[in-house]
Amino acid sequence: MKKQKDGNGMATAVWSLSISRRSFLKLAGAAGGAAVTVGAAIKPELRALTETITALPGGGGEWHPTTCQGCTSWCSSQVYVVDGRAIKVRGNSHSKVHGEASCPRAHLGLQQVYDPDRVKTPMKRTNPRKGRNEDPGFVPISWDEALNTIADKIMELRNNNETHKYMLMRGRYSYMRDILYDRMTKIIGSPNNISHSAICAEAEKFGSYYTEGEWAYRQYDVLNTRYIILWGADPISANRQVSYYLSVWGDMLDRAQVAVVDPRLSASAAKADEWLPIKPGEDGALAVAIAHVILTEGLWYKDFVGNFTDGVNKFVAGEEVSEDDFEEKYTYGLVKWWNLELKDKTPEWAAEKTGLPAEQIKKVAIGYGEAAPHAISWVGGGPVMQVRGAYASMAAHALNGLVGAVDNVGGTLKANKEYTQSFPGPDDFLDDIAKEGKGHKKIDHRGRKEFPALTEGKSGGGVVTNNAADGILNEDPNEIKVAIGYMNNFAFSCPQNERWHRALAKIPFLVHITTNASEFTWFADIVLPSTHHMFEKWGYVKVHGNGYRHVTLNEPVIDPVWDVKTDETWIPWLIAEKLAERGFDNLLRHYQEYKDPETGKTPTNGKEFALYALKYATHKLWDPAEYQGGDKFSGWEEFRATGVWNSDPYPFRKRWGAMKTKTEMFELYSETLKEALEGHAEKHETTVDDILETCNYQARGEQAFIPHYEEPFMWGSEAEYPFVFVDYKSRLNREGRSANCSWFQELRDLDPGDEPWDDVAKINPADAGKLGIKTGDRIKLTSPTGELECTAKLWEGTRPGTIAKSYGQGHWAYGRVAAKEYGEVPRGGNNNDLIPADYDRLSGSTAFYGVVRVKATKV
Ligand code: SF4
Repeated sequence: MKKQKDGNGMATAVWSLSISRRSFLKLAGAAGGAAVTVGAAIKPELRALTETITALPGGGGEWHPTTCQGCTSWCSSQVYVVDGRAIKVRGNSHSKVHGEASCPRAHLGLQQVYDPDRVKTPMKRTNPRKGRNEDPGFVPISWDEALNTIADKIMELRNNNETHKYMLMRGRYSYMRDILYDRMTKIIGSPNNISHSAICAEAEKFGSYYTEGEWAYRQYDVLNTRYIILWGADPISANRQVSYYLSVWGDMLDRAQVAVVDPRLSASAAKADEWLPIKPGEDGALAVAIAHVILTEGLWYKDFVGNFTDGVNKFVAGEEVSEDDFEEKYTYGLVKWWNLELKDKTPEWAAEKTGLPAEQIKKVAIGYGEAAPHAISWVGGGPVMQVRGAYASMAAHALNGLVGAVDNVGGTLKANKEYTQSFPGPDDFLDDIAKEGKGHKKIDHRGRKEFPALTEGKSGGGVVTNNAADGILNEDPNEIKVAIGYMNNFAFSCPQNERWHRALAKIPFLVHITTNASEFTWFADIVLPSTHHMFEKWGYVKVHGNGYRHVTLNEPVIDPVWDVKTDETWIPWLIAEKLAERGFDNLLRHYQEYKDPETGKTPTNGKEFALYALKYATHKLWDPAEYQGGDKFSGWEEFRATGVWNSDPYPFRKRWGAMKTKTEMFELYSETLKEALEGHAEKHETTVDDILETCNYQARGEQAFIPHYEEPFMWGSEAEYPFVFVDYKSRLNREGRSANCSWFQELRDLDPGDEPWDDVAKINPADAGKLGIKTGDRIKLTSPTGELECTAKLWEGTRPGTIAKSYGQGHWAYGRVAAKEYGEVPRGGNNNDLIPADYDRLSGSTAFYGVVRVKATKV
C-alpha cells in the first residue's frame, strides 16, 4: 500500500500496483481454477470430447460451411455433420479474416441447437393476466392458427388507421434483417422499428465518427503494430474478431507492448505488459493526459499531424500556443485542442482523477508515442457506454490521430469495401394508411431535446433502445397495441429491466420469435419457434478483420430439429400471405419482387423466398458477370459450397485528407460535431449549451466540439453505496444466449476469477475484510434502483472500491439449466437489476459502465 491524494485532496490508501504479472497470473489461476492462457483455456473433459469426435472412424460425415454468431465476430465456420447430426464446429479456412481459427464459445452452438428446452412448436398464452408472477400457461398451436391470429391483429390496426401502434423489436440479426425489420414495418405503416443497437455499443462509434467520419466498428492491424492501448476491451475474450485475435495475440505479444485500461483484471490484462486498473469513469482523464505527454514530448507523428513551422516544439505544459505557428497536414484543430483542453492535463493531474500513478501514465504515453505510427488506441465499450461517454470515446480515439495510426500499417482501419446489395425499396407498396402511420413519431423518443442520438451527424439518427420501455409505459407518443420481437430479450438485457416487464405486460398483443423461451417470451401472447442461425437458417453477415472483409453465409447444414421457421424471411413471408388472404396484399407483392437472379423465378413460398432473397442480396459476389472485386466464383453453387467471400486487401492511407468529416481531415476540433449539435439545438430553438446541460454533460462553449475530460456521472452517493459496480461480459456468453448450456455453466472459470455453476461478485480482499465478507458468503448487492443476491469471491484482480461481476446469470425464464427453478428462482443475479436506465444521450447509447454505485451486505 502507498498513500496518495484523491481528487478531493484527501489522503487515501491506494492499492499497490507493484504486483508482478507473474503473481497475477498465479492469483488468477489459483482463484479461478483455470490457467489464463491465450485461447487455450480448455478443460480436460472438453478436450477429451473434441478428441473423441475428431477420431470418429472414417469420419463418416462431411464439413459444411455456415456462420457463427455467438458474438459479433461473425466468424465463417464449418460444421461436421454425421447422419444429419451436427457434432463439431471449426473456423472456415476460406476466410481471410480468421481462417481456421475459432474460439471456446463457438462449441456451445451445438448445445444450443440441440437444447431440449428450445421452443419446438408455436404456442399461445392461455393466462390473460401478464406479469412476472403470472405463469403464461402456454399451449401448443399450429402455425396456421398462430399466423391467422397475428394477421388478424395487424388488420385490426390497419382497419382502424392505427398502424403506428405496431412495433417491431429487433435483437441480433443477419443482414436479411430489413425484410422483417424495415420493409414489413413500413408497408404495414409504422415508424416503430426499434433495434437493439443502443444497448450494444453505439458510443464506440461516436468517437470515430466525430474525429474521422466513420460510424462503424474498426479493425486493428495487430500483426504490424508496436503498441496497443486497450480501453476496456478484452479482445481475447469478447469484443470483435475474437477468433482472429486469439490466433495471433501470442505472435503480437512477441513484437508489441500492450497496456490494458480496466478496473478488472481481464484475460487480456493478465497477458499485458501494463495493467492500468483505473477508477471507473475516469478514462477521459487518462486519454487527455496521454495526449498531453505525446505533445509535450514531441512524439506526435509529423507525417500525419504536421509540425511547428520552425520545427521547435512549443507544447509546454500550461502554455498556450499560437495557431499560426503550427502547420497541420491531415488533422484539423490540434492547437485549438491543446489550448482548450490539453495544456493543463498533466500526468500528475490525471493521477489524481484516475487513481493511477503519474509515472505509469507517462510511461504508457511515451511507449505509445514512440511506437507511432504503428500504435493502436483500441476503444471498447467500458469507457464510453457511460453517461458522459461520448467525449471519452472521442478522447481515446483521438490518440490514433496524434500518432498517425488511422488507416495506417499497424494501426486502426475501417471496413474494406464489399458489394452486397440492398433489397428492393418499399415505397411503391406504401398505401395512404401506411404513409400516414409511418409519419408518426417513434416510441423511443430519439431526436427529442433530451435524446439527440446523433448517429452520423443527424439529430435522432440513432436509436435509444432502452427508452422504448418508457415510451410504451407512458403511451408517449402513442400506445403500442401490437408488437413483434425477434432474437431479443429486452426484458433481461436492458438495465432496470423491471420497466420492460411492465411495458411488455401492457402491450395487448405481443409476439416473440425465438429459439428459447426467455424472460421476454414470458409476456408474449404468441410464441413462434425460430431456426438457429448457425445450423438451420439462410442468411449472411459481413465483418472485417486482419485487413479484409468477409461476407459469410448462414446455411441450413442440418434439417430443422423442431417445427421451426426462419425469423427474418420465412415467417414474414407467411404473415404476408395471411395479410393477402385478408385483402391487404402489398407486403406479399413486395416480397414477390425478390426474384432468383439465376433463374428469374418469383418465390412461391417462404422457403424459396429465404433462398432467393439471399441470392439477390449477394448477387454481385457470386455471379461472374457482376464481378466488382475480391474473391471470384463461378456461380452461386461455388459460393454456397465455400460459404464465404473475401474482399481485396486493405488499401492503407487512402483516406488521409479524404475522410468523411466536414473538413475531410481527422478532426481534433470537430466541425462535424459542431454542425450536428448546432443542428439539434436549432431544431429545438435553443443553444448547444442548453442541450448539453439537459443531457447531463459538463462541456460548455467551444469545449463541446473537442475531445475532453468530463467527470463521471454516477448514480448513488459514495457514503451510502461505497463501491462502483463493474459489469463485464463473460467469455462464454454467446451474446447472453448460452446460459442454458451446461458447458457455459461448467466452464465459467475460463473467465479469470469466475466459478463454475455460480455467479460471483468479485471484491478486493482489502475491501471484503473491512465488511467481514469471505469467499463463498451469500451477499446482497444493492444499488439505488435494485438489488440481487450472489456469492462473494475475494479476488485481487478487482480494483479496491469496485465490485466486478460478469453479465449472464440471473435468468429466471431461460430454461432448466439457466434458472435454478424455471419461472421462479434465478441462478445468481442479473446485473441489469442493479444498473439504472441511463444514457449517453449524444450517441443514444445505454450506460452500462461507471454509472452506478452499490453496497454489499451478507445475507
Ligand atoms: S463465438 Fe464469436 S468469436 Fe467465437 S466463433 Fe462464434 S462468432 Fe467467432
